[in-house]
Amino acid sequence: MSTLATVLEQLDQAADRLGVEPQIHQHLRHPKRSLIVSVPIQTDAGELEVFTGYRVQHSMTLGPSKGGIRYHPDVDLDEVTALAMLMTWKCALMGLPYGGAKGGVRCDPSKLSFRELERLTRRYASEIYLCIGPDRDIPAPDMGTNEQVMAWVMDTYSMQRGTTVPGVVTNKPVLLGGSLGRVEATGRGVAYVTAEGMAHLGLLLSGARVVVQGFGNVGSVAARLLHEMGCRVVAVSDVGGGSYNPEGLDLEALQAHLRSGQPVRQYPEGDAITNEELLQLPCEILVPAALGGQLTAGNAGAVRARLIVEGANGPTTAEADRLLREGGVFILPDILANAGGVIVSYFEWVQDLQFFFWKEDEVNSRLRDILTAAFRRTLALASRERVDLRTAALMEAVDRVARATRLRGFYP
Ligand code: GLU
Repeated sequence: MSTLATVLEQLDQAADRLGVEPQIHQHLRHPKRSLIVSVPIQTDAGELEVFTGYRVQHSMTLGPSKGGIRYHPDVDLDEVTALAMLMTWKCALMGLPYGGAKGGVRCDPSKLSFRELERLTRRYASEIYLCIGPDRDIPAPDMGTNEQVMAWVMDTYSMQRGTTVPGVVTNKPVLLGGSLGRVEATGRGVAYVTAEGMAHLGLLLSGARVVVQGFGNVGSVAARLLHEMGCRVVAVSDVGGGSYNPEGLDLEALQAHLRSGQPVRQYPEGDAITNEELLQLPCEILVPAALGGQLTAGNAGAVRARLIVEGANGPTTAEADRLLREGGVFILPDILANAGGVIVSYFEWVQDLQFFFWKEDEVNSRLRDILTAAFRRTLALASRERVDLRTAALMEAVDRVARATRLRGFYP
């Protein structure tokens, strides 16, 4: 089942429960705008290579659209559309004045040189130039992109405008108007909601076993902060596989191992495991923080975690979600669990618009306030409506967008 099919099914369920009228429901099923661009670049060898890029703006009902840019070989229109729709719900659930968007280029960034990556980014940014801007659509990083890519997007946009426009992207380098705390924000948010989820389940964080799939920007920060909160991180992985040590991994030593250019599975203080084995390890907390579609009907029955915290977007298929819930696993859904990134993106945008910058403590404590309040609202709705947390989160988000659509009406 594709991520798009999964998110459409989630929307249909939430809309049915809320009794959203068919016109608005149909409207929400379709993105507002989808742009497909070709991105021709000259390779370092002087050849021409043409990539395909996308920017899908699902909704602008609550404000300008917001969402990352992904560089990955699996990027296609369906995936970008699904991820754009998830951004609409994520921003609405957090009460941010944004709609949702996503972009991407179908490419393998690890096969491109630094200069090729710059040319690809600048050409892609020029191609989507007309539909982005601080009051239109504000990109940020996602899988395969980072602060440097955002700096190039900001520069390309600014060169066209003839003036520097920091608010066109978020998660830029701090020197260029980025926010303190933004790089860590998604992983930090994952750690905050994990603490809330564990307290709700009546489980102690101290000594709780944590398994993290994906050791990138989200997974590595979540692992470190959960370790600081007293958890025992027993396994982590990257694309090539993972490392398992039931006594707990030494995360600093693992980071040093990775800095030396070696993959996680070759970390000598743990047993090498596959990503599939990792999902089935005994633990209290499982954090899928890699690609979508990792927990499926095929492996959900073997999951032995008490709590799943979705650091990734769309890591659980609809069938797996059902099976996991039937098996008594509590799931903190993506639009709640990984919203820390877009919350601090919002703070960054506000700082850029005001040219007035905050201290990191302020960023982190405001992040915690917004996330914790959203977690508690969602939990209250879930118990009132007797539904799981994902359904409750979607209901709250879809209701907000549907009400705004009703107030604005249909143009013309
Ligand atoms: N790509 C991140 C996400 O999926 C961040 C989006 C943003 O900050 O705009 O939430």
